[in-house]
Amino acid sequence: MIILDGKLLSENIKSELAAEVDIIRSRGGKVPHLAAVLIGENPASQVYVQSKIRSCEQAGFKSTLIQKSADTTEAELLEIVKQLNEDPDVDGFIVQLPLPKHINEERITLAIDHRKDVDGFHPINFGRMAQGLPAFLPATPFGIMEILRRYNIETAGKHCVVVGRSNIVGTPISILLSRKGYPGDCTVTLTHSRTHDLPGEVRRADIVVAAIGIPEFIKGNWVKEGAVVIDVGINRVPDATKKSGTRLVGDVAFDEVAPRSSHITPVPGGVGLMTVAALMVNTLKACKKEIYQ
Ligand code: NAD
Repeated sequence: MIILDGKLLSENIKSELAAEVDIIRSRGGKVPHLAAVLIGENPASQVYVQSKIRSCEQAGFKSTLIQKSADTTEAELLEIVKQLNEDPDVDGFIVQLPLPKHINEERITLAIDHRKDVDGFHPINFGRMAQGLPAFLPATPFGIMEILRRYNIETAGKHCVVVGRSNIVGTPISILLSRKGYPGDCTVTLTHSRTHDLPGEVRRADIVVAAIGIPEFIKGNWVKEGAVVIDVGINRVPDATKKSGTRLVGDVAFDEVAPRSSHITPVPGGVGLMTVAALMVNTLKACKKEIYQ
């Protein structure tokens, strides 16, 4: 069994990005600039945003963090989005989800200029991705594709079972893996909360992608011997042996599933770090105007 090391891969990607930014800077070009908007005090969101900002700094990107209290109104947030859309120095930006309940996430996503939508959530990017046109790919699915690519995992003709159909993970990864090319050319089954006999579906998979949000949901005897397992879940569970009283686990019961799989991503240290790296790749593409003029 091979651990798919998201930490190592994301460090490699960050070094590649840093080298490119050095060249850009030495030629007097524009350094990529990512802005992040964080509304409220959700502890997980604070950790994610800090990690995005820190990673940008490590690679020599410019970064801006806009932090506002949980009582920020939708109109105020729309104004921030408008200013970022219009700021020529900002190449790309993200509004960290989830937002407080009184703000409509869909309205905010739609207000972001798709040319700066480095999270890849805007319907224009989603639609272009689905048609195989150049687009900002959603960061987590993009990170998963990079894991498969960089570990040379065979995908053509493989049966991939995706568990979870969210707009940011399950649905887009099922589209990307079914598309022509590498990684891709999979036969994909997209499963969800209404699927009959989920264990039976997962047992048919050569590649399992778990994006459900339930700790250790996928059990050992659901997984075929030799399957590749990508665990997207990030769940905090109580653990009295830890100083913090909690630990992170994925959507896959790692101890049961790992011995049966050929390759598996750990949590933490797997998909999460690759999501940050993918966001940075998108920001550099935005800066270089690789996708949109
Ligand atoms: P979501 O809540 O939007 O979607 C969950 C999906 O799981 C839904 O489509 C639902 O149909 C399905 N589901 C729920 N219960 C089910 C059941 N009993 N059986 C089968 N399917 C079921 O979640 P999301 O935003 O896609 O996130 C999923 C997980 O991935 C969460 O743990 C989240 O924290 C994590 N996540 C990680 C990253 C990362 O960077 N690693 C990024 C995004 C999300």
